Amino acid sequence: MKVAKAQNMRNIDKRAIEKFKIPGIVLMENAAWAVFKRIKERDAKRITVVCGIGNNGGDGFALSRLLYINGYEVNVYLFGDESKIKGDAKTNYDILLNMGVLIKKRLDELINDIKFSDITVDALFGTGLDRDVEGIFKEVIEIINSHSKYTISVDIPSGINSDNGFKMGCAVISNETVTFGTLKLGLLLNEGREHAGDVFVDNISIPKACIDEEELNITSTYGGYPKHLLKKRHYDVNKGSCGKVAVIGGCYYMSGAVTLAAKSALRTGSGIVTCVVQGSIVDRIASFLPEATYKVCGETDGYITLKNEDVDEIIKNYDAVAIGVGLGKNQNFISTLSYILENLTKPLIIDADGLNLLCNIKEKLNFKKCPIILTPHPGEFSRLTGLSIDYINKNRVEVALKFAKEYECIVLLKGASTVVTDGEMVYINTTGNTGMATGGSGDVLTGIILSLVGQGYSPYDAAVLGAYLHGAAGDWAYKKYGNGLVASDIIEYIGQAML
Ligand code: ADP
Ligand code: ADP
Ligand code: MG
Repeated sequence: MKVAKAQNMRNIDKRAIEKFKIPGIVLMENAAWAVFKRIKERDAKRITVVCGIGNNGGDGFALSRLLYINGYEVNVYLFGDESKIKGDAKTNYDILLNMGVLIKKRLDELINDIKFSDITVDALFGTGLDRDVEGIFKEVIEIINSHSKYTISVDIPSGINSDNGFKMGCAVISNETVTFGTLKLGLLLNEGREHAGDVFVDNISIPKACIDEEELNITSTYGGYPKHLLKKRHYDVNKGSCGKVAVIGGCYYMSGAVTLAAKSALRTGSGIVTCVVQGSIVDRIASFLPEATYKVCGETDGYITLKNEDVDEIIKNYDAVAIGVGLGKNQNFISTLSYILENLTKPLIIDADGLNLLCNIKEKLNFKKCPIILTPHPGEFSRLTGLSIDYINKNRVEVALKFAKEYECIVLLKGASTVVTDGEMVYINTTGNTGMATGGSGDVLTGIILSLVGQGYSPYDAAVLGAYLHGAAGDWAYKKYGNGLVASDIIEYIGQAML
């Protein structure tokens, strides 16, 4: 699903109202119904609705009416100067007053009402938040966070910046957020991701054309995206037509990474997977991986050495190559990486120590002949860009976009909200979980993406789908092992995730 910033949402609403002639009050009514439907799903009788003076508060007033008419015990609160309520919000506010509904304002009463409510609805601020939350609004948010049993935010948790997910002073921590029209960037990044809880998108009858016209370049996991990218196989495929891929990596001290990547590639459906490794570790890997084949290379001081002739042979025989997992601090390999960049014509994935070596010859990216996918975690990306890890994490989309554009490659920046970009389009992945913070889980991702490009997926689609499947497999593994899951468990569930 497409992802919007606050300005995009204003444009989309404006288009729906002015061009498509959908009255704003209809959109507000639909927004109220969307939240009402979520409340009906739960076993709840007493609801406290906390409203602000903007349109978000207007949604809250309309919702309060629906709840009231449908027999719920409703407490409606308003914070902010009521003389500033205008437009559709004012209409809904007046209707409530005409119905004789009491609109409360006192904080001590609020605490009590929230304590005795099954659900608190946060309709204080939406995407119109334009400065830090202070004073009474801060107190209200703190009361919600301390006393609510279950919180539903309208559109976005109040206090979260809808463009970057940062908390503006303080913000509501919700169990779920019902957002309208399309996803907001702030729900996917930084504090917004955690504060939003489960996100539900309701189109509130905004026509798809209103959103399409906005030409949003960011997409994220939702409503079947990116599952639809997965291709069906023709019935008479054979192992030769399902991708022949090579993993170059490993060293005497780290043989597991290649094993994990190669096994993941097999589990993602590759026809032939070859481990390009030094002789001293072949037996170790082969004892775990009978299905793989091996190309045995030389070694110096425990690290792999590869002759240019070996590279030429790989270029000739394989559909895609991954380099770097478990390679170690193998400085002698820089010239080999350089040779690969100058000569390889098939898609190349560079991960782990491959990225660390790439730091020395970054400019070679400008002379590459092959599509390249880089899969750094923030530490590796920091070495590659010279930016601090903190800066990278706070500006994930921007930094990944810039690098991908400058070096014309695909960047997959790992983390809780993995960002994939080709320099133009951006995908933010939301599958995956805290259990995946374990050694080797990135090697699994490398294997999955390698397999997908080897099977003919475009590098961007392979990275997007790979991030999704990796996280989805991790989510299956999490159900069984929780935070104790290990990288091999993710591999066990790749098949399940693909199904
Ligand atoms: P909109 O009405 O644009 O949809 P909201 O429902 O999010 O937006 O409400 C925005 C309203 O809240 C505006 O009246 C704005 O002046 C006010 N507002 C925005 N940020 C703050 C803040 N930090 N503290 C108090 N009021 C705010
Ligand atoms: P390694 O090099 O040990 O294999 P990486 O750091 O390269 O590990 O990769 C870790 C993988 O696990 C990445 O794909 C990352 O997105 C994922 N991951 C780690 N922590 C989380 C988390 N908290 N939520 C979602 N995914 C996570
Ligand atoms: Mg890694």
